[in-house]
Amino acid sequence: MLLLVNKKNLFNEEMIDSFEMIEYENYNEETKYIEKETFIHFGELSAHLKVDGIEIDIDGAYRSLETQENIFLQFMKKYGEDYTEQIVAMPGTSEHHTGQAIDIVLKKDGNWIIESKDLLKEEEAFKRIHNCLKYFGFILRYPKGKENVTGHPYKPWHIRYVGEKAAFETAEKNITLEEYLENHPQENWMIKKKTF
Ligand SMILES: [Zn+2]
Repeated sequence: MLLLVNKKNLFNEEMIDSFEMIEYENYNEETKYIEKETFIHFGELSAHLKVDGIEIDIDGAYRSLETQENIFLQFMKKYGEDYTEQIVAMPGTSEHHTGQAIDIVLKKDGNWIIESKDLLKEEEAFKRIHNCLKYFGFILRYPKGKENVTGHPYKPWHIRYVGEKAAFETAEKNITLEEYLENHPQENWMIKKKTF
């Protein structure tokens, strides 16, 4: 079953009742939490890429509703409503609540590239990363040209674990998770839950 979380499909805690979150210390010695299956497959993906000369790590993964609310409120206080709504996902609309989405960072010439604007310049490395995501059950969640479907600008660093079947089909048909689940409603957690 697949979880769809976006501006129209809000996250609820019940979605991850059966999930196991793994604790992970990243390149910056920060503790991150990530859903277990996602973590295992991320390990395989990063090992594969390393052989190919590309080093990646986790900048962000699981974020609780509470954390997102706090971030949102801090930004509201500091910058006001307009700017906050552009920059920070409304609590409940972020796929990071599932623990199955990962923001990756890249190592280049011994330094970690972490800023969005710098990551956007690494087109060649991301092309190679994106090409092998499906073999490990991941998708590029917010691709170029699909902004009106996903509601997000192109984010080369944001990948999502969906399992091999969905990953292969979305890559082959050049579709998003939203479109995939329209074609396979029986795999949508929300719809399946209503059926039983
Ligand atoms: Zn993200």
